[in-house]
Amino acid sequence: VRPLAGKVALVTGGSRGIGRAIALRLAADGAAVALTFRSGQDLAAQVVKEIERAGGQAWAVRADSGDAEAVRASVAGAVDRFGRLDILVNNAGIGVLGPFEDIALDDVDRVLWTNVRAPFLAAQAAAAHLTEGGRIISIGSCMAERVAFPGGSLYATSKAALTGLTRTLARELGARGITANLVHPGPIDTDMNPADGDSAAMQAGLTALGAYGRGADVAATVAHLAGGGGRYITGASIAVDGGFAA
Ligand code: NDP
Repeated sequence: VRPLAGKVALVTGGSRGIGRAIALRLAADGAAVALTFRSGQDLAAQVVKEIERAGGQAWAVRADSGDAEAVRASVAGAVDRFGRLDILVNNAGIGVLGPFEDIALDDVDRVLWTNVRAPFLAAQAAAAHLTEGGRIISIGSCMAERVAFPGGSLYATSKAALTGLTRTLARELGARGITANLVHPGPIDTDMNPADGDSAAMQAGLTALGAYGRGADVAATVAHLAGGGGRYITGASIAVDGGFAA
């Protein structure tokens, strides 16, 4: 029997990249998967089709992480659709890089709302539905732990904030048998950070393995945390970064 059979997961930003890989992996492990997107409706529909073709259950819903009501509604929608919620994966995220002095106020708001406020609100909404064995897994970044080059002030700030959220969720939800953990990817080949991008050689060079990872590498750790292997892991920050932080 598959490890997540009977479980329901919500993955934010599941239309592309790491979130897509997580949605596919959790579904392959037996979970019914709800996934959100902002604009990539067609791509999200393709993920749903791919899961359904493999015999799984999936559902995609537009929910801009910048919109508090949409975030809450996506949690409620997943529960309506599949009858329960066991796993929340806060994956949707954006990055704005550049010299600290030049970051615009609009970008500060946009990044903090997407990367911090939305996971906070989604966790609040999910906590009302999670039961014993529930999981909250957020996707941070290796830049929360080690800022190895300039330009990441806003992004690193947003991802480091998830450490405080995750540790507090672990403390507040532990008595209910619910865990909260943070996964810090290193450079992963996606639209956000293509392995053939301008800074890719520099980023790969900062890892111990000297290479980019794949979405499936991050998804494997998320699946471990979501399943029985994660039972006694909570409040932790786990690097899937090829040794970027080593
Ligand atoms: P991508 O840009 O490739 O994909 C982003 C996903 O998030 C898409 O599904 C996108 O949906 C969705 N999304 C973006 N903004 C919003 C929003 N406002 N509301 C709802 N959904 C949104 O990013 P990655 O897969 O690379 O990154 C995923 C996570 O991993 C992010 O949190 C990122 O910070 C983190 N990360 C990535 C690393 C990397 O090297 N790639 C390294 C470390 C961390 P849509 O298709 O609709 O735009």
